[in-house]
Amino acid sequence: MASEPRAPLCIRMHAADNVAIVANDGGLGAGTVLPDGLTLRDKVPQGHKVALADIAQGKAVRRYNVVIGHAAKDIPAGSWVHERLLQMPAARSLDGLPIATVKPPAMAPLEGYTFDGYRNADGTVGTRNILAITTTVQCVAGVVDFAVKRIKAELLPKFPNVDDVVGLEHTYGCGVAIDAPDAIIPIRTLRNISLNPNFGGEVLVVSLGCEKLQPERLLPPGSFAIVDERQSADAALDVVCLQADKHVGFMSMIDSILEAALPHLERLNARRREPVPASALVVGVQCGGSDAFSGVTANPAVGFCTDLLVRAGATVMFSETTEVRDGIDQLTSRASTPEVAEAMIREMAWYDAYLKKGLVDRSANTTPGNKQGGLSNIVEKAMGSIVKSGSAPISGVLAPGEKLQQKGLIYAATPASDFICGTLQLAAGMNLHVFTTGRGTPYGLAAVPVIKVATRTDLATRWHDLMDINAGRIADGEASIADVGWEMFHLMLEVASGRKKTWAEHWKIHNALVLFNPAPIT
Ligand code: CA
Repeated sequence: MASEPRAPLCIRMHAADNVAIVANDGGLGAGTVLPDGLTLRDKVPQGHKVALADIAQGKAVRRYNVVIGHAAKDIPAGSWVHERLLQMPAARSLDGLPIATVKPPAMAPLEGYTFDGYRNADGTVGTRNILAITTTVQCVAGVVDFAVKRIKAELLPKFPNVDDVVGLEHTYGCGVAIDAPDAIIPIRTLRNISLNPNFGGEVLVVSLGCEKLQPERLLPPGSFAIVDERQSADAALDVVCLQADKHVGFMSMIDSILEAALPHLERLNARRREPVPASALVVGVQCGGSDAFSGVTANPAVGFCTDLLVRAGATVMFSETTEVRDGIDQLTSRASTPEVAEAMIREMAWYDAYLKKGLVDRSANTTPGNKQGGLSNIVEKAMGSIVKSGSAPISGVLAPGEKLQQKGLIYAATPASDFICGTLQLAAGMNLHVFTTGRGTPYGLAAVPVIKVATRTDLATRWHDLMDINAGRIADGEASIADVGWEMFHLMLEVASGRKKTWAEHWKIHNALVLFNPAPIT
C-alpha cells in the first residue's frame, strides 16, 4: 500500500453547495491550502464539512443542493462546519407534495444476466436452501436453539444440499395486546418471514401451547403454500407443541422437533440450483453506522446497482422511514402513479404520528457515531441515504411486515434500526441484502446473505475480513460510482448462486430477528 500523504481532497456534491467534505484519511490540519486556494481555518476531521464561502448567521448551509441547516452564527470560509453550527430545518409538510411529476426516461432493459437459484412453488427463487423453524412465542426459544444445534450436528451432515438450519426466534407471542390494530405488524412479519424464499416453502412451527399467538393465528390455512404434492391442499400446519401430553421430559421435546424436521430436510435436500434470470433477485438495501461518505461513495454505488437491477427486471426494496422523510418530495415526485405517492405519504404520516406519540421526531435518528463521522443531522443523513434508491420510478409501497406482490423499485416502510429493517425486508421476501457502512458494523443475517459495502478505504482496510466491497475507492479517485456499482451487481449474482460467500456468512455472524411491535404490551 502506498503510504505517501495524499494531496488535500474535498468532495462537493453539487455546484450550488457552500460546504464540501474532507476526504483525506485523518482529516486536514488548520492552514492546509485546498486545491482551489481556500485555506482551512480549523482542523477538519475526515468526512466533516468545510465552509467553501462565508456563511452569515441564519443563512442556508447547502449540501446535495439541499438546505441541511441554517448557520447558528457567522461561519467564515475555511471553517469546520460541525453540527453545533447548524440549526436543523423543520420537516417538510406532507401537504401539497409533488405527485408523480417526474417521468424519468425509460431505462433500457438489461438482459442476459442469470444466477443459479432454487425455484419455489410460489414462483419465488431462493438464493440459499435453509430449513427454518418458526416459533410462535419467545418461551420456546431456548428449546428451539438446543434442537437446532442437535439438527446441525446430527442431521445436517446427511443432507448435503441443505445449507443451514435456522430458528426464527423472537421476543413476542405473549404479552402483545394481540387484538390491538398495530399487533398485525409483528404477526404478519413473523408469518411472512416463515415464507421467505430461502426457506423453500417448508413450514415447521414450534409452539408452547398456552401462548396468545396460536399457530393457527400465525399461519391460518391458505397462508402457506403446500410444496409437497404428497400433501393435500388442506394439510394441517406442521406444529410441535411443547405442552402436548406426549412430552415427558425435555429430551422428548427435542426428539419431537428432530423427528418433525426430517421430512422437511429430505424435501429441501432433493432440490437443486438451476439457472434463473436476474429478475428473480429481491434485494433489500440498507445502511447502518453511516458517515458523511455514505452519501458520496457507497450509497451512490448502491443506487447505480439498483438501476441495473431494476433494468434487469429484479426487485429492489429501500426502506428506513426516518432517513427518507426529509426527501419525501423527491420520492413522491418519482412515484410511478399517484396511488404510489399517496401510499408513501400514508406511511410517512403514520410514522410521524408514531414518533410524536413517543414525544420525539425524526431528529432522534442520528447517532453519536453518525455525528463523529461528519453527519450533522437527519436532513444531511437522509440526502445520503435516499441515493440508494437510484433513479428508477418507484413502483410500489409496502407497509411494515407486508409481503411483496410486484417487481421493480419498492419503498418498504420500516424503521431505520438495522435489525428491524432487515427483519421487515426478510418478511417482504428479500433473498439478498446489501448493507453500506461508514463507521463499521459487523451486521449479518442467518436467512439471507448480506453483502457489506464500506464507504471508506480506511474501514475496508482495517475490516478486511468483514467488508465485501470497498466503495472508498470512489473517494480515493481509483474507481467510479459505475465501476463499483457494476462490481456489486456481479458480486450479487455470484453470491446469489452460492458460488461466493459473504464475509458475514463465512464467519456465521447472525444478528437476532427483531420484530417491529408498535402495539401495546400487557
Ligand atoms: Ca439502518
